[in-house]
Amino acid sequence: MHIFAIANQKGGVGKTTTSVNLAAALAQQGQRTLLVDLDPQGNATMGSGVDKGSLACSVYQVLLGLNELADARVGSPSGGYDVVPANRDLAGAEVEMVSLEQREVRLKRALQAHRQEYDFVLIDCPPSLSMLTLNGLCAAHGVIIPMQCEYYALEGLSDLVNTIKKVHANLNRELRIIGLLRVMFDPRSTLSKQVSDQLEQHFGDKVFKTVVPRNVRLAEAPSYGIPGVVFDKGSKGAQAYLTFAAEMIERVKIWKEEQ
Ligand code: ADP
Ligand code: MG
Repeated sequence: MHIFAIANQKGGVGKTTTSVNLAAALAQQGQRTLLVDLDPQGNATMGSGVDKGSLACSVYQVLLGLNELADARVGSPSGGYDVVPANRDLAGAEVEMVSLEQREVRLKRALQAHRQEYDFVLIDCPPSLSMLTLNGLCAAHGVIIPMQCEYYALEGLSDLVNTIKKVHANLNRELRIIGLLRVMFDPRSTLSKQVSDQLEQHFGDKVFKTVVPRNVRLAEAPSYGIPGVVFDKGSKGAQAYLTFAAEMIERVKIWKEEQ
């Protein structure tokens, strides 16, 4: 089981779109996949076709130790993967977890019991460097950082990288940055290309080969509760996420051979 956190403390940079579509694309390629929604907004939950308004149990109860992960888990009706859903309850977890022991490894513990059941676990983090994101980073083997190729893309990246370094040093020796994923790329924009080149220069092979273009079908899909790669498999956006899934599977294979 390989666990990846999809993180970037900026909002609207494509974390949820990447989480949902990578999960569905991995599932389409035969990988047993679990998506954990760690954002109180519950966008990954809704985008997977699970109604956040009618959850008997969510990731909130799991983090607080009130329920087992298996109680919260549901299948994505069209995605072919499982979801641990989230809703607004999760907003309170931050405060309520303060008094709990080992509060940063709650998710890690909850996932351990299921390590035979999945090939990939994806964690959609909230747009902050909070206790919730910390739980994601402590549970993960690697971080995927989606980035928009725009002028301010690099701003804030050092905060995220420093947080990841601290977690690596103090809490999770396994954690590493798997890569930066360029999303919402506009091939007609000179700025998009410049920022993309800059990322390659700075981060070398930490930048994924796959580039996800700006594609309206990816933006439309969530309103139907269907992952973009299922909603319109032939669209450029869907094709990019399918290629990205193949790139991830390949990276994991190389890791295994190294070990
Ligand atoms: P985050 O989870 O980081 O806040 P989202 O994945 O929710 O970001 O994306 C923010 C917005 O951008 C959403 O409305 C989403 O539909 C849209 N979006 C994300 N990726 C793309 C893309 N490649 N093409 C077009 N729209 C996109
Ligand atoms: Mg999101």
